[in-house]
Amino acid sequence: MPAPTNPTELARETFKLLVARRIPPTPENYQRIYGEISGSPAGSDSQGADRALQKILQELARKNPALSPALVRVEKAIGIGDWRAVESDFSVLLGRPVNDEGSWAELIRELLKQWELKQSGLTAARKKESLERVLINFSADSAALYKKLHALVGAWAGTPAQMAVEMGGEVAAAVPDSAPVGEVKALAASADAVSAENFKLLRDMLAQTLEIGIVPRLSQFPELAGEANTLSVTVRAAENVVALDKLSKSLKQFWIKLELRGESDAVILDGLLKLLKLLVQNISELTLDDQWLQGQIAVVQEIISHPLNPRIIFEAERSFKEVIYKQGALKQGLNEAKTTLKQMVTSFIDRLGEMSFSTSEYHKKIENYSDQISKTEDINQLNRILGSLMSDTKGMQADMQRSRDEMEETRRRVETAENKVKQLESELDKTTSLVHEDYLTGTLNRRGMDDAFGREFARAERSKTPVCVGLLDIDHFKRLNDTYGHDTGDEALIHLVRVVKDALRPADIIARFGGEEFVIILPETGIEDGVKTMARLQRALTKKFFLYKNEKLLITFSAGVALRQRDELADSVIARADQALYKAKEAGRNRVFAAD
Ligand code: GH3
Ligand code: MG
Ligand code: MG
Repeated sequence: MPAPTNPTELARETFKLLVARRIPPTPENYQRIYGEISGSPAGSDSQGADRALQKILQELARKNPALSPALVRVEKAIGIGDWRAVESDFSVLLGRPVNDEGSWAELIRELLKQWELKQSGLTAARKKESLERVLINFSADSAALYKKLHALVGAWAGTPAQMAVEMGGEVAAAVPDSAPVGEVKALAASADAVSAENFKLLRDMLAQTLEIGIVPRLSQFPELAGEANTLSVTVRAAENVVALDKLSKSLKQFWIKLELRGESDAVILDGLLKLLKLLVQNISELTLDDQWLQGQIAVVQEIISHPLNPRIIFEAERSFKEVIYKQGALKQGLNEAKTTLKQMVTSFIDRLGEMSFSTSEYHKKIENYSDQISKTEDINQLNRILGSLMSDTKGMQADMQRSRDEMEETRRRVETAENKVKQLESELDKTTSLVHEDYLTGTLNRRGMDDAFGREFARAERSKTPVCVGLLDIDHFKRLNDTYGHDTGDEALIHLVRVVKDALRPADIIARFGGEEFVIILPETGIEDGVKTMARLQRALTKKFFLYKNEKLLITFSAGVALRQRDELADSVIARADQALYKAKEAGRNRVFAAD
């Protein structure tokens, strides 16, 4: 390419070379390069170079008005000799951002300065919004990011309306509220253009965020996960910004739910941690009987077999703490009683040993005395022997008496200790039974139910009387939960149990089979009476409404009833009752069916 001769071209080439070689555009450097290109010696008139440069800038601005604000800045910078600003502004204009640290540092400094400054009609929130948009759209491309940030800061500095044309939509938010209507329209159009370009990308990113980022984290909350999936499908189907905008309300509601769930996550984790600590602590203390350990582990298994929620965990922790506290206190008493008992037995055996020792000593002495007596002829000596014999006998009597008293005392203390052990053991049994209860409704839980089945079936066999098992499932309970909330659902469960317990005979047993399903064991009841009893429970529920904020809510249930056959296992009776329950649901709910 021939060397340029026209001063405008010379100046343009000079600047390109300065930028390409990364030489700071000081007047000296500019002159040197200018000389190099034009072939004239260095040191020629710098005023001439400045003028030529300004001329080229004006020409550029004329050809491309969109660039004029930046060009005006370059011109100004040349005027005041701020060559760093010239370098950075010019680099932006050439589409070659300067990525060295110095330029970024300056840009950030300028950004901070403009951030702090109060521009009329430009609030901090608007600045933040426009900055965020630039960051979101261009953070992947540092050159573009530099350019856009630079332009944005320039817009803040004072020429917003014109700058917007140059920079695209992200500046629209930086426009002061007082911007003339025509300018704002131009900006909106420009924003639309960018939105149209990026719309598909952003829309798919939003859908992917929901699918990849949100849904997998909601495995414990199937309803929320379902909602997120539905939202992502709707987002993907959105054809344009308007369609997407219509989704904003549902998205907001979803965020709020997520936010609430996020809080409950932390509470759940905290609760679980406490629960586990308690369990471990308790296990280390449980050395007396393995059954206790199984009791506690059953509680934890019960908890983790349901979807977790903070209330369940807190309830479990509370009842668990009670059990542990009582067991701890009783176990200590039990240990003390056992130690005392052991001491008693040890001292008893010691005493026995001492007694047999002193009696054998006595025997030896008697033998010795009778030997002496048989050999002596001397009455005086005989008298002395008898004297010694008498005093030894007395001593031995006293020994015997003392030993007898001590043994009596030992026996009494052993008896007391034994009673205490018995009493403590029976109390321990009672506290262990706490783990047989359902934490929410106070009915028996599955563990308690299994025990009750064992007891009641054995009793029915002994007394040769029938026993019925009813299985009830609340109708449309999910709907009640969805409409009034999970807590209200819980209240409804408590209400149902209260009404059912009131309507049952004292001998009847109710156990929570799981969720909103309950098993009712009806001893000494044939199938007809069993069905009647369940129907009576239904009527009781229709009479005693469940109140939610003064609104009467009717809870109904469907039930199946099975008469236990000879030697039939509990699982089989329940399975038959369940089949009948299924038929009751099929038939339209709120009914009771007898099992085949
Ligand atoms: P159906 O008439 O067919 O039985 O309808 P349903 O809605 O009752 O059906 P399903 O058995 O599938 O739903 C039971 C619901 O009960 C789902 C679950 O969220 C809710 N649930 C289970 N345990 C609890 C609980 O302890 N508290 C509350 N509030 N809800 C529970
Ligand atoms: Mg159910
Ligand atoms: Mg149900």
